[in-house]
Amino acid sequence: MQTDVTPPRSKGLMALAPFIRPYRLQVLLALVLLLCAAATTLVFPSALRQLIDSGLAQVQTGDTASATHLANYFLALLGVAIALALFSSARFYMVSWLGERITADLRQAVYNRVLQQSPAFFEHTPTGEVLSRLSADTTLIQTVVGSSLSMGLRNGVMGLGALGMLVWHHPLMMAQVTIGLLMVIAPSVWMGRRVRRLSRASQDRVADASALANEILNAITVVQSYTAQIRESLRFKEATDQAFHAAVRRTTARSWLVAFIMSTTSAALLWGLYTGTLAVLEGSISAGELGQTVLYVLILAGAFAVLGEVSGDLLRAAGASERLIELLHQDSAVAQPTNPKQLPTHSAAGIAFADVGLSVTFDAVRFSYPSRPDTLALDALTLDIQPGTTTALVGASGAGKTTVTQLLQRFYDIQGGQLLLNGCPIQSLDLQNLRESIGVVPQEPVVFATTAFENIRYGRPDASEADVISAAKAAHAHDFISQLPQGYQTFMGERGVRLSGGQRQRIGIARAILKNAPLLLLDEATSALDSQSEQLVQAALDHAMKGRTTIVVAHRLSTVKRADRLVVLDAGRIVEEGTHTELMARDGAYAALANAQFQTQSPDAAD
Ligand code: ADP
Repeated sequence: MQTDVTPPRSKGLMALAPFIRPYRLQVLLALVLLLCAAATTLVFPSALRQLIDSGLAQVQTGDTASATHLANYFLALLGVAIALALFSSARFYMVSWLGERITADLRQAVYNRVLQQSPAFFEHTPTGEVLSRLSADTTLIQTVVGSSLSMGLRNGVMGLGALGMLVWHHPLMMAQVTIGLLMVIAPSVWMGRRVRRLSRASQDRVADASALANEILNAITVVQSYTAQIRESLRFKEATDQAFHAAVRRTTARSWLVAFIMSTTSAALLWGLYTGTLAVLEGSISAGELGQTVLYVLILAGAFAVLGEVSGDLLRAAGASERLIELLHQDSAVAQPTNPKQLPTHSAAGIAFADVGLSVTFDAVRFSYPSRPDTLALDALTLDIQPGTTTALVGASGAGKTTVTQLLQRFYDIQGGQLLLNGCPIQSLDLQNLRESIGVVPQEPVVFATTAFENIRYGRPDASEADVISAAKAAHAHDFISQLPQGYQTFMGERGVRLSGGQRQRIGIARAILKNAPLLLLDEATSALDSQSEQLVQAALDHAMKGRTTIVVAHRLSTVKRADRLVVLDAGRIVEEGTHTELMARDGAYAALANAQFQTQSPDAAD
């Protein structure tokens, strides 16, 4: 899938240069080993010529001196062969190391970049696609850097060496051959461009299939309850078939390219060989020289064949790297300010903001989501929240309550008006500092696939064990965690212990309590908990809210009653403000909402 952001001009594999640069020394070493290996390979044809012309022809049966000479000669060749083996394996190690290292760095860089993206990015780029880029595309680059490139370089060097030797020995003939070879290159480059484009398309289709699989596997229970497995299987088949057809188109183009390169180079080389053979017949060169020439020609032809193959691989990797590089250059829609301000940690009177809370001001804030630019999610919203108070947002679904909490975390930028924290415009604050100053308890807190202990410590990674346990106690999570099979070390989340809704919430609350941030955003769970669970969660929340500025998306009567102020939203606008009692007395929008929404929760709903 494409993003709608204009990609930077792609430079294909050249764009990988910054990733190779830190390993200049290793590249140099690999090149030296490569040259050594190529040079040793080129010794063999000369050795063969010597053997034919001076050795074999003169060895008589029973001539011990010549026999010893011959044995020594072969011993020397064995030495050369061993040197070749050592150089080759060292080069193989070095180049594979480079391939693995560069791929790992590239993967990390792309991952880091993706981690910084605002939610808007993920609205048009499915996570499955990102995963495919991180695995399939980088693996392709690894193959190329770690093997094809080295094969290409080795054959390039050897081919050039063989060509050089041939030119040295038969300048006139090779001049003709070289011109022939040059004429091959121009059309190959043109065909190569098409291969690269098709490679990109092919990787894109693979990513589409991954994105689809990722979405469906994440919703597996829904798929199964609607018995949609066959439908989904067909949908996936369609996506993989698309990937297959794209791959076939790429392979067809590449096969033509390889066929073209191989047949034209063979033709040029055979021409050279033909003229060489004529020269032997005329007696202008010896049989040994012809033998040597044949070997050089074979090396040269082999090198060209490999280069043809490798160029296809390189083009494929260039296609894969294009999208990775685009991801790497993708700027987050939410930018870190150039001169970021930090929120103060203490008030003028020396009191820690974590204990008194921050002030929050919405001043005629206008905002619409990037995917729905024509609908205002918040319409000139004005709201002044004093430090240490609790404000409950109420209103029908879609009124804009969640949007308020998203904007406070600066997941999106507002489009009009001002949003101030302690008097500072939110866009001028250091992003990390801003988010460190906000504790969030979502409706369904995420439980990671790690221990209970680490799940809570996610709120403050440097917290001590005692801090974690005291946060768990404050969040009324200590008792149930202690009863788990391995207590705090029990594995949770995916493939771990499954928690009930109320337990998840208390883990989430413990995490926020541990974070100890001056502003707390709370999205109450909509689904009803049993009354004991509800009491525990409520007690945990009381603890979390103490002393902080709290903004809560309220779904429970007990919460709205305890809030210092209720703000009733409708279609992104404030329609009523006041305490629960005041608003009930007014008998307006809130009273209607409360009567409808909270009646079932408590018999005293309408007091
Ligand atoms: P509430 O939390 O009160 O139910 P929201 O703040 O989630 O309401 O939504 C306010 C409006 O913004 C709704 O019309 C909703 O459809 C829209 N909206 C919410 N999230 C997005 C989004 N990511 N992209 C586009 N529109 C959204």
